[in-house]
Amino acid sequence: MSVALEMMSYHSSCGEDELGLLSREEVPNQLAGVDNYYFCPIFLEDMDKVRHAIYMFVDLFGLSRFEKDNLIRFTLTVKKNYRRVPYHNWTHGFSVANSMYTIIKHAPKAFRPLECLALFIGSLCHDLDHRGKNNKFMLETESPLAAIYTTSTLEHHHFNQTVTILQQEGHNIFGKLTSTEYKQVLGNIKHCILATDLALFFPNKARLIKLVEDKLFEWENPDHRLLIEAIAMTACDLCASAKPWDVQVETVKVIFEEFYEQGDAEKAVGKKPIPMMDRTRTDDQAESQVGFLSGICIPCYELLHKLIPDTEPLLNGCKENLQRWKQIAEDKKKEASKIKEEDGEETDTGIEEVNEEEEGEETIEEIDDECVDGKNDAGKEDDT
Ligand SMILES: [Zn+2]
Repeated sequence: MSVALEMMSYHSSCGEDELGLLSREEVPNQLAGVDNYYFCPIFLEDMDKVRHAIYMFVDLFGLSRFEKDNLIRFTLTVKKNYRRVPYHNWTHGFSVANSMYTIIKHAPKAFRPLECLALFIGSLCHDLDHRGKNNKFMLETESPLAAIYTTSTLEHHHFNQTVTILQQEGHNIFGKLTSTEYKQVLGNIKHCILATDLALFFPNKARLIKLVEDKLFEWENPDHRLLIEAIAMTACDLCASAKPWDVQVETVKVIFEEFYEQGDAEKAVGKKPIPMMDRTRTDDQAESQVGFLSGICIPCYELLHKLIPDTEPLLNGCKENLQRWKQIAEDKKKEASKIKEEDGEETDTGIEEVNEEEEGEETIEEIDDECVDGKNDAGKEDDT
């Protein structure tokens, strides 16, 4: 190992003190509420999220084929390799894994054991080393990462980070799998992580809907299984949109903070950010959420619900949040038109025309393009 690589691996892997602390602890037999679709990870301490992640792993896969210390080291190092950005951080990675765990628990027959392993670990790692900027930004700022991967730039990087962690000493949680199983799981993890690019969600969704409508979907067909896995990954990635209202609101705050930070960075180099990323446009948040939930999240949960009916709480939670955002957006509109009317009495109505044009600026397509996870791709391809 080169000196640089050795140093990097030291600084990016977990500390011995954290490892010692967790290895002395017993993995609990039960954790209340963790398999509830409305479980709220944002209220857990970071180390408790590590404990919960280990519990979920052991609950799903047992320890007979996995080393406990490797599992702890791996999970701690994953935590460390999420950056302290407002949204795409350890809390988000953990939340997505928790949602996947919940789906697997409620629909234990949907996926096979090795697929579950890939789905769960893929979810936990799916945004590793995210920098809080989307694919479009990475391309436009000529980030070295975008030079390596021109499509799904970030997602390829998240997968590479996963492999890098697995390769560190004492981190290979798949060490006891046969080489065939190892290859299968790793290939499947790659598929799962890349599927979190919303650029792939739209074509995946279209293909899967067509299969379902034509009654051609078969659970036994490997290609169809990959499609449903991809939709399940997106569903979990968007899980904040299905959580209880207080969690939804808190999450939307940090999502927009991350968007605005990208908008600031764009302004700093003389570019005009899209309205959703412009921090002077906070009044547009509710409308933007309406577009995002109704244009992306609900269709995703409806499709998942069709194929895995036990995921209904995700669809219901998202519908409830959509109603709330609609109400807020409606109120904002009324408020704005009241102000316009008042202004109109004193000034010329020319202002109104300008404002109306502006309102039309943010279309659903635009929200699709730059949506929640905010990773975007070249051309019209985007993601979460
Ligand atoms: Zn994500």
